[in-house]
Amino acid sequence: MFVLTENNSLANRFLAELRDKETQQNAMRFRNNLERLGEIFAYEISKTLSFQKQDVETQLGIKGTYQISQDVVLVTILRAGLPLHQGLLNFFDTAENAFIGAYRGKHDDKEAFEIEMDYITSPDIHGKVLVISDPMLATGKSIEKAYHAMLRYGVPAKTHIVSAIASRRGVRFIQARLPQCRLWVGDVDEEMNSKSYIVPGLGDAGDLAFGGKV
Ligand code: URA
Repeated sequence: MFVLTENNSLANRFLAELRDKETQQNAMRFRNNLERLGEIFAYEISKTLSFQKQDVETQLGIKGTYQISQDVVLVTILRAGLPLHQGLLNFFDTAENAFIGAYRGKHDDKEAFEIEMDYITSPDIHGKVLVISDPMLATGKSIEKAYHAMLRYGVPAKTHIVSAIASRRGVRFIQARLPQCRLWVGDVDEEMNSKSYIVPGLGDAGDLAFGGKV
């Protein structure tokens, strides 16, 4: 697992601003900080991809360069995932895109919930590098479900999972259930509350980015 805060960098400030209960009230800044983290993750993930030599013709000669030789598909879970997804797409600018609509379904026991999925649009992902993003990796259930739903569209060469903040339990869940996937997170928090919100976390990422819902 790759954790951004294990090394001090600019990402520390983006994460702190996402968490800060005053700063996070500025929705444009909140979305922008998630987008900036997406760009950093794209840069880090790019180091794991395959590259091949490609000549570039300058005004004065030929320069041999190395360029990514794998196809990338970015997939996110609506709606909270959109800013992180946009950041990944800013850097993986030729990537194809998939979107999944998912929500927490109600149960009789009001603390328990199942993840319901009702909308997916995706290209063929066979043999490609899949990058699944969701800003908050809480229980890990929605990411697990998203991964399995994506297998309808082919078997990826490699899958990366990207989250701004993960719970320790969510990390363990994903590592146990999806050991073939590589996890990239901004930070890891130790606790979750009874509603499966990460503590201290940052609150509801979807509401902070896009406003409340009924
Ligand atoms: N989704 C959120 O938006 N926040 C959490 O803490 C957990 C899931």
